[in-house]
Amino acid sequence: MPLPPYRIKVVEPIPFLSPEERAGALHLAGYNPFNLRADQITIDLLSDSGTGATSAAQEAAAAVGDESYAGARSWFRFLDEVADLTGYPHILPVHQGRAGERILFGTLLRPGQICVSNTHFDTTHANVELAGAEARDLPCPEALDLDSHEPFKGNIDLTALAELLAGPDGERVGLVLMTITNNGLGAQPVSMANLQAVHALCRQHGVPFFLDAARFAENAWLVREREPEYHGWTPREIARQAFDLADGCVISLKKDGLASIGGCIGLRDDDLHARCEANLIATEGFSTYGGLAGHDLERLAVGLREVVDPAYLSARAAATTHLAQLINEAGVDTVQPAGIHALYLNAGRLLPHLSPAEFPGHSLGCQLFLDGGVRCAELGSLYLGTMDEQHRLVTPAPFELVRLAIPRRVYSQEHFEYVAETLAGIAKDPERITGYRIVSTPPILRHFKVRLAPLP
Ligand SMILES: *Cc1c(COP(=O)(O)O)cnc(C)c1O
Repeated sequence: MPLPPYRIKVVEPIPFLSPEERAGALHLAGYNPFNLRADQITIDLLSDSGTGATSAAQEAAAAVGDESYAGARSWFRFLDEVADLTGYPHILPVHQGRAGERILFGTLLRPGQICVSNTHFDTTHANVELAGAEARDLPCPEALDLDSHEPFKGNIDLTALAELLAGPDGERVGLVLMTITNNGLGAQPVSMANLQAVHALCRQHGVPFFLDAARFAENAWLVREREPEYHGWTPREIARQAFDLADGCVISLKKDGLASIGGCIGLRDDDLHARCEANLIATEGFSTYGGLAGHDLERLAVGLREVVDPAYLSARAAATTHLAQLINEAGVDTVQPAGIHALYLNAGRLLPHLSPAEFPGHSLGCQLFLDGGVRCAELGSLYLGTMDEQHRLVTPAPFELVRLAIPRRVYSQEHFEYVAETLAGIAKDPERITGYRIVSTPPILRHFKVRLAPLP
């Protein structure tokens, strides 16, 4: 297995609660892991967003952060790095990805328009709707077979996209947004061939094409591994080619920026840039900091170099693949093939005695916390299903999954083995696990604030 190209210099203690303490904590949290306190969690796989470890070089750069209100040195270091990586002539900083989404969609999309994607991420979906537009997902058909080893299950369905653009709704398409990698659908990568075809279709129909590039480096690594034409390329060269194909991007830099906060918008169009910049200044901050501190911009400038290091990416990819093997050997199926930033457990298959209305993915996630203090996120009917007024499930999600997100440079092999052992314990006697019902739920982005109770 490739060795991680770093050793540990600073550590943070992790808590170990008793099973009784965990049961009490989960009860108080309304059985929603988002309501748990981080100091109740032993292994936190809720998100890979902003949860990575920084390097000594990043912290050294942060120490010389320039906090000037306008035109700080740190801004220019960040700008040079992002412009060199992406090639976009206009870069706007934002405090995190969703701020970029709000500014871009609020400026670019008109009410009644359609935003098409391989799969919208949850906040992306919400921001498209807040702009008065419709978010439409066109994942490729291969994505629907969780067990198949197709290399690029993150692709968009090109036939469906071509039909939409040429059909009666074509006029209403205001944006095509490709999420790399496809976080909403199994962390699967998008091939360069797919991006090239999207580029051609968008050009033919005069529709803007943007990337949601939170994991541009991890997508580039999987392209290099799985798309033969790109074998000899560096991850940075592949990422650059993806950016070259698009008219712009929004990036949550909390992922492949290797820092705890940050984001940016990249644009080619001068007029769109001017309008986005006005919105940015009014709502995020001046255009040379966009809601970020100088020290954040410094960490990001260094992180964006470190993240495309082939030694780092190969070790991270291998660690995730290894965890997938341990979990599969423990008797729990994961969405195949393993991606990099997360693994998706097939809870529907492990817990066939629970119907979608009893939220098997949520049950499995809760059990991982109860048995091992492991926190993760449901991606099934609780998150994606539609409900009636009484919070009863009307349309289930296509799959009942649980996402184990892997923070960058944080956990070691022993931690992963512990997670797999906890799952093995559950897989020995899955029938003991009961379902859940919803007690209360917010109007949008349900999963963040929903409260539940276990069924008897
Ligand atoms: C995290 C993420 C976002 C939103 O970014 P935040 O920094 O969390 O606001 C958007 N798209 C994708 C694909 C993401 O993973």
